[in-house]
Amino acid sequence: METRHKVLIMRCDGYDPDVIGGIIKEGMEELGVVPTGKVLLKPNVVIAHPQLFPHAFTRKEFLDGAIWASKARAENAREIAVGERCGITLPTRWAFKNAGYPEVLKKHRTKAYYFDEVKQVPVNLKSGAALRNTMFFPKPIAETDFLINLPKFKAHPWCRLTLSLKNFIGIQDDRHRLVDHNVFLEHKIADLQEAVQPKFIAIDAITAGQKMMLTPTPFHMGAIVMGTNSCAVDTVGCHMVHVDPEDLIHLKHASTRGLGPMNIDEIEVSGDFPLEEVRERTTNFEFCLETIDKYFSDGTNLRCTVGKFPEKHSSDYCWGGCPGALQEAMHLFDAFHPEARQTIKKVHYVVGRVQGPIAFEKDEKILFAGNCTSWKGEINGKEVTINSSYKPPRAVDERKTKTNDMLVKTLATLWSCFRQRKSDYVHAKGCPVSVGDHVHYLSMLGKLKNVNFDPRIVVSLNIDYWKMRFYRAVNRWLTDE
Ligand code: SF4
Repeated sequence: METRHKVLIMRCDGYDPDVIGGIIKEGMEELGVVPTGKVLLKPNVVIAHPQLFPHAFTRKEFLDGAIWASKARAENAREIAVGERCGITLPTRWAFKNAGYPEVLKKHRTKAYYFDEVKQVPVNLKSGAALRNTMFFPKPIAETDFLINLPKFKAHPWCRLTLSLKNFIGIQDDRHRLVDHNVFLEHKIADLQEAVQPKFIAIDAITAGQKMMLTPTPFHMGAIVMGTNSCAVDTVGCHMVHVDPEDLIHLKHASTRGLGPMNIDEIEVSGDFPLEEVRERTTNFEFCLETIDKYFSDGTNLRCTVGKFPEKHSSDYCWGGCPGALQEAMHLFDAFHPEARQTIKKVHYVVGRVQGPIAFEKDEKILFAGNCTSWKGEINGKEVTINSSYKPPRAVDERKTKTNDMLVKTLATLWSCFRQRKSDYVHAKGCPVSVGDHVHYLSMLGKLKNVNFDPRIVVSLNIDYWKMRFYRAVNRWLTDE
């Protein structure tokens, strides 16, 4: 008889690294987990800052406990390291510093792999269900013998939840991360899981995050969730916060491909924190799954028109691309300048294929976002035509992607903003238009202070950017790329 996947929910009320380490070690023992060979721990550090983004990432105390437990359980381990690629093109070493990781790595004499600084290698996908035949991964991921996934338990405005499966978006570097990060995001997450699976998962659900990915509001869940299969862990995670696993689309895709169960009856849920008790605690857990036209309908000068999208499976909305990036960009402004939504000048955001006239206001600046966007009409008495240049996944070659480097993109977007500064409208290209680009465009059109140049981050961010460039060049030279 086939054995059921086991998932543990353990109580953990605070961030004491010794307590966390003890719980994770106990979980590893119960699940029969023995790290061996090259062991790599992958936390979620999409963004981190003690004041600006305190709840977006796997906490340093959690990492501390996980490293300790891994070392305590390991047999014949050749290396125990931590690796990650943070989000929105920021240097990962900068995010690690803001997350407080260097002291933990030093304490355990553990190496960090910043995935934006290492060689990227192709990995083949063979199932035929994936969007493409090859994906690119950092070399340490391709070479690891034992991958440990350490996600943060968060709601997600594009995918509903980010748990074990979604955390692997943070494996890819900037050049490859935005490939298929559009209306196919949920498929891409399943592709990533197909290419590489973790052998142990421990989710930091002590303080979970609600609503947003970069700026979540904290929710005391008081739990650590552990397992050895991403689908099983994510299924239990769904039930913990009253989500039907069928509605977590990437889980459905991954499970359909045979990567694990999504039926709670096929999973043995145990641990000292009963699922029903967790569910009683989370009845008010908040999500944000509003489309941008509704989300920005009140109390701000930002208005949105949403059209139709090019793929049949999601023709009413693009959950994985430009609209979500707009939401996250506005939340970045909120984090730096809480008054941003009130002070932004009038901006009208248009995304998707829109037919017929749009009721623009006379003093509104218009941002047409994304390659799939198209429209024909009149703006301030002038005929304007916006054409779609959208390409489906098979027409996008993952080996010939753009760099998406932070500085290159910043300069290119600022130049584009400068050239179009006198125009009533701008067409931002990309599929998706990244969160970072949205920040630049909103800053120019809405006359908001550009958060990239905020004095609280600008110096340290740029120092780490140049360090990243230096070490990346050295690593590429050493690995003969
Ligand atoms: S251009 Fe943007 S909105 Fe259109 S499909 Fe691509 S990511 Fe989605």
